[in-house]
Amino acid sequence: MKRIISTLLLLVLCCTLLTGCFCKHEWQDATCTTPTTCSLCGKTEGEAPGHMAGDMVTGEIDLAAKTSTSYQNCKICGTSLHSEVTDLTTFLDGGKFIFSPNQYNDAMNTYFGGEYIFEIDTLDSGALISMISDANGGVTGAIMYLANGDSLTIDDADSPACDSLLSYWYTDDNAQIIDVMTGILMGCDINLNEETALNTLSAIIDAYGSSYSSNGLSYEVTLNDNDFVFLISVD
Ligand SMILES: [Zn+2]
Ligand SMILES: [Zn+2]
Repeated sequence: MKRIISTLLLLVLCCTLLTGCFCKHEWQDATCTTPTTCSLCGKTEGEAPGHMAGDMVTGEIDLAAKTSTSYQNCKICGTSLHSEVTDLTTFLDGGKFIFSPNQYNDAMNTYFGGEYIFEIDTLDSGALISMISDANGGVTGAIMYLANGDSLTIDDADSPACDSLLSYWYTDDNAQIIDVMTGILMGCDINLNEETALNTLSAIIDAYGSSYSSNGLSYEVTLNDNDFVFLISVD
């Protein structure tokens, strides 16, 4: 009799085991695209909840490509849900440049492709600059980033706060200054190509002592200790 009971118990136990999962489920939380799932047997519960759309991020700009990208990612997992690239028609908006100093600095490096190197740095005063050197490591010049006449600081490196660029030069090689100024001008006025940027540079120098305006920007060149200083301001 005892033996029969043992056998019955064993049978019941077997049935329970056979009808269910052999494992004690180890549930893993659902992700956006997978439901709650047992990591041992793969059994799932419920449905995948789906992505949760985050805020639309508008206007991340690529100066070199002259485009602006708006996008929306999932708040939970970061998957890109939607993006839209539009061509920029201007680098100016609301009395300021649309780019941050870092973006401008990157655009210059893309444009010059190693011929000149732009590096974000600060002066002892805290003023935010891009140091410009040539491919041989010679210091060519610098750009200072300004807003309302004050220099920006490193905290502004990623903000589109700049309304003027001041470029000054350590080199006496005018050919280098012309080379770099051409790129700087093209980075400020989307309408310029290398030829029209050179024409603009001539017009700025011709206007020495007063200012030259074109496409929503004003330009001035002055001499400081016999070194050229160019000021480019959004009107
Ligand atoms: Zn399981
Ligand atoms: Zn997601």
